[in-house]
Amino acid sequence: MREVGMRHTEIEERLAAVRARIARACEDVGRDPGEITLVAVTKFFPVSDIGHLLDLGVADIGENKDQEAGAKIAELERGARERLTVHFVGQLQSNKAGRVARYADIVHSVDRAKIVGALDRGRAAALEQGHATTPLTVLVQVDLGEGEQAGRGGAAPDQVPALAEAVAATSHLRLGGLMAVAPRGLDEEGTRVAFGRLADLGAQVRAEHPEADVLSAGMSADLELAVASGATHLRVGSAILGSRQTDR
Ligand SMILES: *Cc1c(COP(=O)(O)O)cnc(C)c1O
Repeated sequence: MREVGMRHTEIEERLAAVRARIARACEDVGRDPGEITLVAVTKFFPVSDIGHLLDLGVADIGENKDQEAGAKIAELERGARERLTVHFVGQLQSNKAGRVARYADIVHSVDRAKIVGALDRGRAAALEQGHATTPLTVLVQVDLGEGEQAGRGGAAPDQVPALAEAVAATSHLRLGGLMAVAPRGLDEEGTRVAFGRLADLGAQVRAEHPEADVLSAGMSADLELAVASGATHLRVGSAILGSRQTDR
């Protein structure tokens, strides 16, 4: 029990530090922290950590691998599952998309038409079988990299409007907005410019789809820049949970 108490305290302290960073970043640009959803990315960490997060008031968790996510969700007690919003943030393969569509509440990583079809069919089956009761919210992931920086996942910016349209045209998916991961190796100014491009693209998509108001950007290292660029969802892993643990 003592171990569990220590872990709870560790997460509590890290979480408080992250919330303080978000509050400060919001203050700097005149935003209300209440309009930002903090998604705790729990990949690599045990289901007990999800319990600590729930106790600490974090109901949004993110996972990036189907196998790990599916196993953890299955392990959760029903009461805990009902209180959580599960975000799938990892790269999707079309043969796994059907399973993800069954347990996820929001998928952040739609980057090609084939995945749109697979998620739509998967959600249709989940609805029919009673595993889900609402359409699946999905975000189109944008590749913000240019030149050698491209390829960290996501659709090229010029493909994004068509992909958003494809999502909106399905029956079992709801277009939530856009997501991006900052390209590797950029300095602060480069990251700021990249997130600015995401925000512009988000505005362009919203002109056609006003309901698509989510901008998922910002991780442990760059959440302040994402807040400044108008992110509505931050995906924070290591700053809350610590660095990857291999011994548990
Ligand atoms: C792991 C992960 C995160 C969290 O990254 P940290 O640097 O640990 O905060 C965010 N987004 C995606 C897509 C991830 O895979």
